[in-house]
Amino acid sequence: MKIFLILIFTIFTLNAKQFYFKLKAVKIAKDTYMFEGKEEYFSIQNGGDISNTYFIIAQDSILVIDSGTSYYYGLQMIKEIRKLSQKKIKYLINTHHHPDHFLGNQAFKDSIILANKYTKEYIEKNGNEYIVALINITQYALSETKSVAPSKVLKDSYIDLKNHKLKILNLKGHTKKDTVIYDENTKTLFVSDLVFNNRAAATPHANIKEWIKTLKRLRKIPYKILASGHGKISYTKDPINQMISYLFYLDKKLKSSALKGLSVFEILALEKPKEFLGISMIDEEFERSIINLYPKYEDKIK
Ligand SMILES: [Zn+2]
Repeated sequence: MKIFLILIFTIFTLNAKQFYFKLKAVKIAKDTYMFEGKEEYFSIQNGGDISNTYFIIAQDSILVIDSGTSYYYGLQMIKEIRKLSQKKIKYLINTHHHPDHFLGNQAFKDSIILANKYTKEYIEKNGNEYIVALINITQYALSETKSVAPSKVLKDSYIDLKNHKLKILNLKGHTKKDTVIYDENTKTLFVSDLVFNNRAAATPHANIKEWIKTLKRLRKIPYKILASGHGKISYTKDPINQMISYLFYLDKKLKSSALKGLSVFEILALEKPKEFLGISMIDEEFERSIINLYPKYEDKIK
């Protein structure tokens, strides 16, 4: 049986073709482009293309924001970027340590890969574990992917690309450190997964209190374009307001359920407020959030 499985695996590997992501760069502001991810969970069909990635073609160089879920995705990003510009891809920023934002790093071997200190160290330690988990779900889309950690720490500072001055803010909430990039020239705010635009928030590493504080801070920035890690581009403050109310609701529901001694199944059976029913992936992400976060709330009341 074992030999048979090895044989099947070898045949599969030899025949593995590159997963085709059908990436299409969409212009969202001057010199600024987006590859829009699907509002889905990882699957064989989407190959892990579930998050948004971005790039800015500045005066002398290109800066990329996040690299997607796999080596193939990263390679295909570069191929699409090259249709628009031959300038050097000088920087790639990984906004946080979730696998759909950094597993394409392997394709950017000629670029400086930047991330905040926490994200860099997390990827160094745990990057390969994500591949083990995801290869079972996405299969051949990840078959040649290796975890490549960021090479340099990105502090709260500025990256000056001459005609695009980018303010870097390392904030808390979705993970322990999420990097936000504000392009002062185009007034585009790249908020990473701190904002899910009309798509339910993923919370496996969330600190809800800190996240709400961060969102209130982001709301004050005079941006014109809100570019989030998941969901469509926005030109309003609505996605931030929706995130704040959803996180408030989640926190309140978890607290009250713990006080009543409800089980996870009892919480999941409760009806959700109407205002959240139109959000994509609400059932899946709400369930994941309850399963991930509820033990912490139960511990607090013990
Ligand atoms: Zn994330």
